[in-house]
Amino acid sequence: MELRNWLDGKSLGAESGQTWPVVDPSNGERYARLARSSEVDINWAVAAARRALSGPWGDMSSAARSQLLFRCARLLSDAREELARIESRDTGKPLKQAQADATALARYFEFYAGAVDKLHGQTIPISSSMTALTLREPLGVTAHIVPWNYPMQIFGRSVAASLAVGNCAVVKPAEDASLSILRVAEILHEAGLPAGVLNICTGLGAEAGAALAGHPDINHLSFTGSPVTGRVVAELAARNFVPVTLELGGKSPQIVFSDADLDAAIPAIMNGIIQNAGQTCSAGSRVLIQRAVYNDVIERLAEQFQALRVGPAIENLDCGPLISERQRDRVAAYLALAEKDGIRLVAQGRLLSTAPRGGYYQVPSLLADVPADHVLAQEEIFGPVLCAWSFSDEAEALRLANGTPYSLVAGIWTRDGARQLRLARRLRAGQVFINNYGAAGGVELPFGGSGESGIGREKGFEALYAFTGLKTLAIKHD
Ligand code: NAD
Repeated sequence: MELRNWLDGKSLGAESGQTWPVVDPSNGERYARLARSSEVDINWAVAAARRALSGPWGDMSSAARSQLLFRCARLLSDAREELARIESRDTGKPLKQAQADATALARYFEFYAGAVDKLHGQTIPISSSMTALTLREPLGVTAHIVPWNYPMQIFGRSVAASLAVGNCAVVKPAEDASLSILRVAEILHEAGLPAGVLNICTGLGAEAGAALAGHPDINHLSFTGSPVTGRVVAELAARNFVPVTLELGGKSPQIVFSDADLDAAIPAIMNGIIQNAGQTCSAGSRVLIQRAVYNDVIERLAEQFQALRVGPAIENLDCGPLISERQRDRVAAYLALAEKDGIRLVAQGRLLSTAPRGGYYQVPSLLADVPADHVLAQEEIFGPVLCAWSFSDEAEALRLANGTPYSLVAGIWTRDGARQLRLARRLRAGQVFINNYGAAGGVELPFGGSGESGIGREKGFEALYAFTGLKTLAIKHD
């Protein structure tokens, strides 16, 4: 199977004719090839997007765009099962998780379809002889660099918002997981999206990705990925004064106080680290537990870890394989370091004995009492590894929670209302969840961090502001 770029409403191979293998992480087998795009393909894609801006798309009313995006949402929803199967095989995530991703993708289109004709400028009371107002206008061509962990969801959250306000988009999916996005582009075309409004170029980060990030004719760059690459693409974009949204990494804490409802907290803590085998930027990869309930919580988490089963995506278990050999080795190296440094391994999940030997499996692990300045306490592992600490009081919990270079998400588990608000306001995090974690996806909720977690916000109404430019008008009438 050879998959091609989606360019100007057509399926096209890379200009160089070069391709790149698609590997099934559940067994290590190659089953397809992707176009390996170069700067030439990216130039075509950006030019096609620019042309589409001056076509019928550029004149479409927000109400008409809203209707079109509702149609996109319906067709994506109808294709949920097909998309989930593609995503599950491509990324290794269990089918039930890929189904949830496909649902979220359609929901992003639905949310922005419903939001875009409610986006208004403002009037400003400057003087009685002058009327001043603001217009929200599309930026032009937006570039989107997508990672491999949630290709459909991350595509949905940034591309649906950008198209909703009238931009045209060029997307570079991750080399390890591009298949679902290529199929989504076809579906959106069937729904009536005009040629050139959405263009997809697959390929390698350092080639196609860098060419897109540094392209002089893009007007915005939305990047989701690692802090290391985020720095590279932000520098490339800065050369052309292109604004960026960077959604980077996380080392998010879940803070459990002794008065917490543990029956609610334990499953949420498990899901926060096990979902997508821990390869989630907002994974709750640190659990901070108040001393009075520390042993109890560790025991209950240990039981849950021991019950986890890992195997091929198609088996639909708790965890699939990691995305690639490189990612599996990276996580394994962190665990080897933990062993070497005498960090307590409390419990691990089990790998199915029938799991193919060529798959990139890593059983989930619970580690306890990690020194606060250890690499495992500071760096994003991006795998199914939960690290636990105990704390005595609120001040210590806050110090531990805020003690990394990341600031994406935090969870607080307590029944004390004053403490909930006190802590929520002092935590360095773009999202704080109280007595829940993740709000079941929360398409409506602005998302993003600062520091190593990134710049700007996506999701919710905020994304519409990020993908529009503000123009101020002042009219003198007296
Ligand atoms: P990555 O930075 O290696 O790759 C992300 C994307 O950038 C891919 O499409 C890749 O092809 C592209 N890329 C790589 N090098 C590039 C370059 N020189 N120029 C332009 N593009 C380039 O990250 P990854 O390994 O794919 O993803 C894992 C990381 O992403 C983790 O740190 C994780 O926390 C982060 N992430 C963050 C979020 C979020 O919303 N905050 C979501 C998912 C992943």
